[in-house]
Amino acid sequence: MSRKIIIAGNWKMHKTNSEALQLANQIKMKTTDVKHTGMIMCPPFTALAAVADVVKDSGISIGAQDMCIAKEGAYTGAISAGMIKSTGAIHVIIGHSERRQYFGETDDSVNQKIKTALEFGLKPIVCVGESLEQREGNITSEVVTKQIKGAFAGLKPEDISHIIAAYEPIWAIGTGKTATPEQAEAVHVTIREVVAEMFGQQAADGLVIQYGGSVKPENAQSLLSQPNIDGALVGGACLKADSFAEIIHIAEKLG
Ligand code: PEP
Repeated sequence: MSRKIIIAGNWKMHKTNSEALQLANQIKMKTTDVKHTGMIMCPPFTALAAVADVVKDSGISIGAQDMCIAKEGAYTGAISAGMIKSTGAIHVIIGHSERRQYFGETDDSVNQKIKTALEFGLKPIVCVGESLEQREGNITSEVVTKQIKGAFAGLKPEDISHIIAAYEPIWAIGTGKTATPEQAEAVHVTIREVVAEMFGQQAADGLVIQYGGSVKPENAQSLLSQPNIDGALVGGACLKADSFAEIIHIAEKLG
């Protein structure tokens, strides 16, 4: 089955509103020729509406980097799925390892957030991935299987078509170390098998699984050429329009 390649940029806690507008405009201008590749930018909450406005008539869609489980209420500082949707964003990253590590995100909260996101018509980008210790202990497959089973518990096969999975080995995020294409491909195969077991082969075959962890123009081609790597979730390299657009153009040639 041929899946669309989707490249997403996670801006993390970078860019004031004026900087965000500048970067979004530059990326938009550099990607006007892109026809087959999905493009997503995930700026901070504060810039979502402004960046969504910049890209509204382009092929780029917008996502948030997290959301609250609750739909509304007394949760000072939190941002709901409905608020995100109202900015023009259609995606939301859920379960990024930095949220798990610094903000107490668990497989259960990831699961609840996915359900709320889907209810509001947001498409989750669900992150999973092992630590260095877990990889060295040869338990990567068990760790990722448990994360996927926890994240997707109670969903229906049709929900999977609104979800992107992102395999992000923690040891490769922001470190300059990348999983080899073979290491990443093996985990992507595992993720697809687990999803097939839970929701059937058709749902699994349609699932876009991105790789994330120090993706840059120099390694994008070899990673994206793997049969089960359907895109990339890019951190550092998405903060410069040139490198993000270059990764998108590499994907476009493969698509
Ligand atoms: C990320 O934060 O999702 C990520 C993959 O970051 P980087 O590309 O900088 O490793």
